[in-house]
Amino acid sequence: MTDFPDIKAFQSSVRQYIKQNLPDELRKLVIQEKMDIPRDLQRQWHRILQKKGWGCPSWPMEYGGPGWNDMQHFVFEREIALGDAPRSMVYGVGMLAPTIMKYGSEAQKQEILPRIQNADHFWCQGFSEPGAGSDLASLKTRAELDGNEYVINGSKMWTSEGHIADRMFGLFRTDSSGKKQYGITFLTLNMDAPGVEVHTIETYDGAGREINQVFFRDVRIPVTNRVGEEHQGWSIAKYLLSLERFGTAEVSRSMRTLQKIKNLARRNKLNDFDFDARLTRAEISLRAVELTEYRMLFGEEPAGAEASLLKLKGTEIQNEILELFHDAVGNYALIDARDDTSVDNLPENLPEAGYIAQAHFNFRKTEIYAGSSEVQKNIIAKAVLGI
Ligand SMILES: Cc1cc2nc3c(=O)[nH]c(=O)nc-3n(C[C@H](O)[C@H](O)[C@H](O)COP(=O)(O)OP(=O)(O)OC[C@H]3O[C@@H](n4cnc5c(N)ncnc54)[C@H](O)[C@@H]3O)c2cc1C
Repeated sequence: MTDFPDIKAFQSSVRQYIKQNLPDELRKLVIQEKMDIPRDLQRQWHRILQKKGWGCPSWPMEYGGPGWNDMQHFVFEREIALGDAPRSMVYGVGMLAPTIMKYGSEAQKQEILPRIQNADHFWCQGFSEPGAGSDLASLKTRAELDGNEYVINGSKMWTSEGHIADRMFGLFRTDSSGKKQYGITFLTLNMDAPGVEVHTIETYDGAGREINQVFFRDVRIPVTNRVGEEHQGWSIAKYLLSLERFGTAEVSRSMRTLQKIKNLARRNKLNDFDFDARLTRAEISLRAVELTEYRMLFGEEPAGAEASLLKLKGTEIQNEILELFHDAVGNYALIDARDDTSVDNLPENLPEAGYIAQAHFNFRKTEIYAGSSEVQKNIIAKAVLGI
């Protein structure tokens, strides 16, 4: 950071603002790695940040963003993670908005962007389907043109936050005659449109309502909800997915967890040589990912397929660290934070034990979503190593 003389002052102003303004209730839910943070709390926090013009950190100034450089954005995201604050609304702020800025019509920009900026609308992402995840272009949910409307039938799978979203952006099959990447169209729709049904999928971690299957039965949406040309949604999807790959290494959040494990180990005098060695190895690996992230963000060559390395290693280490956290609390990890009475049985020096098991189980997902580890390895083999 020595190349950025003002960055320290920027960093401390962000840190202080978070410390002074993050609602305690929200901080507690983030510390407990809860997945179902209530909408109103998310909205409240977004608007607190937006008072400073920080609600949409990646947006350029012409759309009302702070117009930060990469380093400022990087530091901001780090402080959010270290300050136990939730990240910005990823589907609207981080994914759809830049896509609309690049591919949307003027009318779509006017309609969609201010509502994201003010947290009036929550969005979800309707890409995956039963049978179309890693092989996304195999998607089959149909949108058929009928006059000035598309009629949608089928279903979307693993839709995060589908149960709290006002709107969905997604990929729909409008033609099946050519190559599977052709005939996909990028559409947006209201989640309360007649014929949309959201069914929550129970997950075994108990971290809260998170993912859903969304069914469409003759859902009619206006043609004006189409982003870009009909049948040409695949290139828009590729752009949107490239936005998703950065930040998935979660280095800052892993650092925060590592620090908590160290505090716990110190507090409880865990003198276990094997544990210390694993902790040290995890920290060294995390630092290596951090340096790689720096190199890719601020190096001379912009990263391409190499960004897959970050996703692969970053999420592996994230899970390794959570396993260490789990081991550090031992059998107390069996106590379930959902059950208030059993939490009363926790020893005073192990308050983390009430939620660590569910976080550990929940975060298995990080090696699946945004491109599974196997898919990242395929990309590295082909596009980076040329084998
Ligand atoms: C918690 C969570 C939230 C999600 N949220 C969303 C969301 O909001 N919106 C959305 O659209 N999607 C979402 N997803 C879906 C996610 O993108 C898919 O789960 C992911 O792309 C994998 O697809 P799949 O589940 O169909 O598994 P599959 O693609 O069927 O893969 C099954 C297994 O086979 C392996 N595999 C697949 N292809 C290959 C290959 N070519 N070579 C080697 N191994 C391979 C995979 O690595 C995996 O281990 C979410 C998933 C999770 C777990």
